[in-house]
Amino acid sequence: MSKNLAKLCKTLQLSEIEVGAIKDASFPLKVPQDFLEQIKPGEANDPLLKQVLPIKAELEINDAYSKDPVGDLLKNPSPALIHKYHGRVLLIASPKCDIHCRYCFRRHFPYQEQTNQRHWQQALKAISEDKTIHEVILSGGDPMSLNENTLMDLIESIEKIEHITTLRIHSRTPIVAPSKAPQNALLAWAKKSRLNKVLVVHCNHANELSEKTAGLLKCYRESGFQLLNQSVLLKGINDSSETLIELSHALFKQDVLPYYLHQLDKVQGASHFEVIDKDALKLMNAIRPKLPGYLVPKLVREEAGKPNKSPI
Ligand SMILES: *Cc1c(COP(=O)(O)O)cnc(C)c1O
Ligand code: SF4
Repeated sequence: MSKNLAKLCKTLQLSEIEVGAIKDASFPLKVPQDFLEQIKPGEANDPLLKQVLPIKAELEINDAYSKDPVGDLLKNPSPALIHKYHGRVLLIASPKCDIHCRYCFRRHFPYQEQTNQRHWQQALKAISEDKTIHEVILSGGDPMSLNENTLMDLIESIEKIEHITTLRIHSRTPIVAPSKAPQNALLAWAKKSRLNKVLVVHCNHANELSEKTAGLLKCYRESGFQLLNQSVLLKGINDSSETLIELSHALFKQDVLPYYLHQLDKVQGASHFEVIDKDALKLMNAIRPKLPGYLVPKLVREEAGKPNKSPI
């Protein structure tokens, strides 16, 4: 795990000045060891490095970019629960992540105040009282950054609610820190659980996938999880048709189907990652004829006040 900029640059044989790195970023540097091993030394433009390195462009103020672009702070009746869409709720299971992605809305979200066991009890009570909910999505932060026992307590409480049929986990941990992802208790539980199980991982570039991710994902798959991926479309990282096509194939090789390709949330400090809609649509038109339909992700944006992700 690297939290020290000077050390990171030294390991990767790069100069801090050359890459335009900044030290005092409000959202601190955090790079797990497995992810670090997938970055190519000496490559200032490495697509993985760019996702984690704080640079000067983050300090630019752009008025179209806010601190709560998706309106989560408003739609939040119970502190750990976000109920925006019909039939499914998002439960903030952990305030932490194993990695800090520079483009993430989380750089400003006050999750720290949002998750403790008392909040979970309130959230579970709200879920058990609302029979329109059939799917609980564990999100964060990253739910897989929780201690495995704590995660399993939460999952088992959810399973006890009769009208819940599906448990979904949204996590970047299996991709960026496979060595730290929960395994034994979660896999044993999954094999015998009555619930439909979905794991939506988050991978933006084929280079993030390795032998380690392959081994781990196979275990989840074999214990009954459907594996899906969401990516964020990021300028200079995955905004070429070749990169997106390669990503889809690399995911499928590890048993994962592409689900969403997200347009960036307009969060302060991330404007340099933006790919405008016109270019995003061009990319979709370029990849569609070259991929089987099941390997084409849906290009979407999350908008405040909408009942679903908006297709572009
Ligand atoms: C994205 C999201 C979901 C899940 O939406 P799906 O289209 O089912 O993947 C649920 N709740 C919230 C608040 C979300 O942002
Ligand atoms: S929530 Fe996801 S995208 Fe955001 S920092 Fe955590 S792992 Fe990265």
